[in-house]
Amino acid sequence: MIEDIEREVQYTRRMIGKDAFDPKVMSVMSNTPRNEFVPKSYLDAAFDNGPLPIGHGQTISQPYIVALMTDMLELEADHTVLEIGTGSGYQTAILSQLCNKVYTIEYIPALADIARSRLQKLGYDNIESMTGNGYNGWPEHAPYNGIIVTAAASHIPQPLVEQLKPGGRLVIPVGSPHLYQELMLVEKDKDGEINIQQILSVAFVPLQGERMNI
Ligand code: SAH
Repeated sequence: MIEDIEREVQYTRRMIGKDAFDPKVMSVMSNTPRNEFVPKSYLDAAFDNGPLPIGHGQTISQPYIVALMTDMLELEADHTVLEIGTGSGYQTAILSQLCNKVYTIEYIPALADIARSRLQKLGYDNIESMTGNGYNGWPEHAPYNGIIVTAAASHIPQPLVEQLKPGGRLVIPVGSPHLYQELMLVEKDKDGEINIQQILSVAFVPLQGERMNI
């Protein structure tokens, strides 16, 4: 899996602007047991560099994309991160090993429950999870050094931009929910100015409840 990620970094290096990810990110990718996060019927493919179904019409993301989005956040050991779209909990586990605290929100209660008990069982103990719509973020614990959205949004949710710390980074796929999207990096500088960069075409499942905000 690690070699596959490294190869894909080479293929995409002009788009992502680098030819290697942070070694800390790669070391966490190689030490995290992805087999614990995929359904039993897909165990054979657990370490392939591809997405897999996790039930309820959702997917565990492709390892290269997990590594890319994590790398884009430029996490430090004292950072607090918000994740929208817990899904299997795999991305959550990766983040939790690179920062101080991860808050994660999942829309589908059954997936949220499975991920919560899985992460606890595996001993990732700096994660707090919530079931609900992540569109509005989690204001109680804001501001965040990093925010990651792992479902396709039609636009950048303003509440998430507001919950970023100055110097913070938001990584989010934006575009048509049932086709391809562009992975965006939203940076808030020290003065609160927002800078947005488009990184790469990606395909994510849709962010639910964007209009209702409930
Ligand atoms: N990072 C996860 C990706 C799961 S797919 C993994 O690798 O396993 C995206 C997830 O986002 C799905 O579980 C979906 O239910 C969830 N989701 C969709 N809309 C959401 C919303 N508004 N708030 C929180 N989670 C949402």
